[in-house]
Amino acid sequence: MKLKARLLLVEDDSYIATLLAAHLGQGGLSVMSARSIESAGRQLEQHDFHLVLLDLGLPDGDGKDLIRSIRRTSDTPIIVISARQQEQEKVQCLDLGADDYLAKPFGMDELMARVRVALRHASVMQLRERQVRVGELLVDLQQEKVSLAGAEVHLTRIESRLLLLLAQVPGRVVTHRQLLQEVWGPEYIDHTHYLRIHMGRLRGKIETEPANPRYVRTEPGVGYRLSEN
Ligand code: CA
Repeated sequence: MKLKARLLLVEDDSYIATLLAAHLGQGGLSVMSARSIESAGRQLEQHDFHLVLLDLGLPDGDGKDLIRSIRRTSDTPIIVISARQQEQEKVQCLDLGADDYLAKPFGMDELMARVRVALRHASVMQLRERQVRVGELLVDLQQEKVSLAGAEVHLTRIESRLLLLLAQVPGRVVTHRQLLQEVWGPEYIDHTHYLRIHMGRLRGKIETEPANPRYVRTEPGVGYRLSEN
């Protein structure tokens, strides 16, 4: 990373905010802080950020409202950092367009790893990368072709669309709802059994051990993610 990535940290707990800002700063990021939704909104108007780290329980509202308002105008990666552990909360944030969700308490190494993934995705999106490689799996996003150890894998249209959706954001969870909506349409967002069936078939074609998948990982109750290289 040549330019310092600029990060907005939205966290009202001053002890956590100070700790995080120190670590992120040591990790080479330039950190600005906001303690409320209102102050975050102001900072976002005044500066361009490469990444937003967002707590949900804020004094003037729910951080989810901020995800919603950021996504109306920008693709800036958002990582939610929250003490709320419920799966439902996580799913809602991801469905609203957050890129990742880290439950407190978390380790600094874990945080830095997620930050790097999010920043890499942001630059991948800018470069419009055409191919994604994970281990021996190669997904060509442009030509919509998939190969494993150099041999083309023949996928059905549905299997291929599912894999391409995951491959657009390697390492990041894509929720059940997002996958169902993209592949089958908005009226199918509750048909999670479709996903189980077709992901099972997809794994049968690309995984050596479909029961212990190396490429397409299950995030229980939330969605699926393609492993990173
Ligand atoms: Ca809080």
